[in-house]
Amino acid sequence: MAKLIFLGTGTSDGIPQIGCKCSVCKSKDKKDKRLRTSILIKTGDGNIVIDSGIDFRQQALQNNIKSIEAVLFTHYHTDHIEGITELRPLSRFPGKTIPCMGNKKTIREIKKRFNYIFSPLQKGGGLPQIKLSKIKNDIVIFNKKIIPLPVKHGILPILGFRFGNLAYITDASLIPESTMEKLNNLDILIINALRPHPHPTHFSFDEAVSIAKNICAKKTYFIHMNHAVSHKQFLKMLPVNMKPAYDGLELDFSW
Ligand SMILES: [Zn+2]
Ligand SMILES: [Zn+2]
Ligand SMILES: [Zn+2]
Repeated sequence: MAKLIFLGTGTSDGIPQIGCKCSVCKSKDKKDKRLRTSILIKTGDGNIVIDSGIDFRQQALQNNIKSIEAVLFTHYHTDHIEGITELRPLSRFPGKTIPCMGNKKTIREIKKRFNYIFSPLQKGGGLPQIKLSKIKNDIVIFNKKIIPLPVKHGILPILGFRFGNLAYITDASLIPESTMEKLNNLDILIINALRPHPHPTHFSFDEAVSIAKNICAKKTYFIHMNHAVSHKQFLKMLPVNMKPAYDGLELDFSW
């Protein structure tokens, strides 16, 4: 068994959005406070994080994360990688290098944007100790398999991941047929749903629900929402086996 914790379920601005006076941003419901989208997978052997975005420090403190054995990146947008800097305290222990994985474009962009880590001007100051590697095939961590799920985010090729009977896809606007074939027999599907009206690079609510119906997991949870609709309003719009995720929600699954 493994445990999944939603560290964040919001789109790139987070909710509340700075300066916004809408009813969702002003909502008192805790489920309407959304940090940037990220999950923690906890197993008896250690922890894996998918995406360390801008809110990673806050998320790690709130969830008492003391160790990370690997970070998997879905893609290189700021809301998904900016927390690389915050991996420093988790790699400070002697010899602790955190493996960080992503597709070719993600690794290339991380090397460019975090140049200070890979080509330091001088010794001292302390740097996050991370080891980048490109995901080409299935990944094995803790002797268990993770299947990469190539999807499209507008024109950008990005990755989702399947752990046993759980699949995690964020920021997608298209799932190719070859990936749909890898999404059979799921207990849990986690997939992005930005807002009610269409968007060029993210699934809208209707698109996400219709894809989730096709995939037909026992339960579906939506992530990466913006402030157009509250948690309660979105829940009312969904079939019984589908729910909006919220920050702090925990799920047990077999992996
Ligand atoms: Zn995003
Ligand atoms: Zn708002
Ligand atoms: Zn993105």
